[in-house]
Amino acid sequence: MDKNAFLERAREGAELIKMHIELGHTIRIISHRDADGITAGAILAKAVAREGGSFQLSIVKQVSEELIKELAEERRDVYVFSDLGSGSIELIDKYLDFATVVVIDHHPPEKESFSVDSHLLVNPVPFGANSVRDLSGSGAAYFVVREMNRDNRELAYIAIVGAVGDMQEIDGTFHGLNLDIIEDGKKLGILEVRKELRLFGRESRPLRQMLAYATNPEIPEITGDERKAIEWLRSKGFDPDKHYWQLREEEKKKLHDALVLHMIKHGAPKEAIDRLIGDVVVSPLYPEGDVRHEAREFATLLNATGRLNAGTLGVAICLGDEEAYRKARKMLDDYKREQIEARKFIIQNWSMVEEGEHAYVFYAGKNIRDTLVGIAANIAINSGLADPEKPVVVIADSEEDENLVKGSARTTEKALAKGYHLGEALREVAEKLGGEGGGHAIAAGIRFPKGRISEFIRLFNEALAKQVGGEKGGD
Ligand code: C5P
Ligand code: C5P
Ligand code: C5P
Ligand code: C5P
Ligand code: ZN
Repeated sequence: MDKNAFLERAREGAELIKMHIELGHTIRIISHRDADGITAGAILAKAVAREGGSFQLSIVKQVSEELIKELAEERRDVYVFSDLGSGSIELIDKYLDFATVVVIDHHPPEKESFSVDSHLLVNPVPFGANSVRDLSGSGAAYFVVREMNRDNRELAYIAIVGAVGDMQEIDGTFHGLNLDIIEDGKKLGILEVRKELRLFGRESRPLRQMLAYATNPEIPEITGDERKAIEWLRSKGFDPDKHYWQLREEEKKKLHDALVLHMIKHGAPKEAIDRLIGDVVVSPLYPEGDVRHEAREFATLLNATGRLNAGTLGVAICLGDEEAYRKARKMLDDYKREQIEARKFIIQNWSMVEEGEHAYVFYAGKNIRDTLVGIAANIAINSGLADPEKPVVVIADSEEDENLVKGSARTTEKALAKGYHLGEALREVAEKLGGEGGGHAIAAGIRFPKGRISEFIRLFNEALAKQVGGEKGGD
């Protein structure tokens, strides 16, 4: 990618924001409700405060015409969108033409630039970056604030927490501009990248649960069965109640070897084995055993706040609020429990899936929370329910509007190699169904009227068929 051109764009964004701070304008920040959106919001808030400016921040689930109209009514001088906005370039031009707008994002943009002169898009994708590997929303915000003030490099760890929340290192290593953030963080001594076990729970879970709840990748015979996990750990000489962070280096290595051997013996796919051990980011800013010490656990804590509609609590945590951290720790357990229940539901009811030529569509009704359908779709892939070369959509009833459903589509690199782009397919289908859709090639979302699910299935299969040059979709 053309890194310098992107950094130049980030610098323009930084100057615009600083100019408005100098003019005494409140910086209106709107950010996305997931981990990289929450960290992006915190990064921008911190940077504005450092320059002596004031901000007002909202964490939202998605951008819609309605939201943009409401924001327009506020008649602000300057709006900064982070981790969202790239799919709404035309709407932003239409309703916010009276203001300065900076969109700092990593989603594939609807168009490469705005038509209104006072609007700026800071997005690495038009410069050649891969939207799900090279930079997250928080990373994009990081490069803008680094240009505002070099001291903002202290936000490198928070930026990487966002990247991990977006699963940018899903294959086991970081890529692209994420590596530059890591370099900054290492130089300042605020983060460290280790080659370790990448399963969730390094800080907060005993080994028996770290293994039994593993979904990314799943561990054959052990995932979903805590008794088996305990037996297996004992047979290899480990105390099942210890936490991973408490193991000595040689014990960690012994555990890694035993797990890899176990996966090979049970015929786990090579991709799954490859991502079992890899980059794990930890920060000496927090003590061992603290959820904030490791990027994945930190990110999941933030996702938990966002999905339970307490995103600004997540922002407070990123800004160092200890009371907010204590409150959110309680939410994390509920969030994790719901994920485990979603996994059970999808596995037990997979026979309900509508399998078309190009996609699986699973409608869960109210059995899975609409903010967990993306995770459920990944679970269907990682647990071997779905052929990894065929995209999966999980749909649930919308929590906000009983006439709508929310769907998340997920797939694998292998499927993308055939030519699929889920974000483009859902955008196209949403237009036909009277909904909103879009996102990345590998992960995308949609909302549409509940009565149109069977039409959705047909249209989505057709859109995917067109992408790979096939004639027909459906089943
Ligand atoms: O303090 P030191 O000289 O080590 O910092 C150099 C780093 O700062 C480089 O990695 C550079 O990328 C980064 N940088 C910065 N502020 C900018 C642009 C770059 O801190 N505005
Ligand atoms: O919906 P999305 O794909 O954003 O969810 C990703 C987030 O969910 C990550 O922050 C990850 O930590 C968390 N997650 C998890 N366990 C899974 C899958 C995802 O904690 N099995
Ligand atoms: O809105 P945003 O870009 O932050 O979210 C990206 C989404 O893509 C997350 O839900 C993340 O978990 C998902 N993802 C995925 N598989 C990947 C990369 C990202 O499901 N390989
Ligand atoms: O909603 P979900 O987690 O499935 O979204 C997956 C990815 O698609 C996220 O990066 C999200 O921001 C993006 N998305 C989008 N436009 C939509 C819905 C989702 O860009 N209308
Ligand atoms: Zn993102």
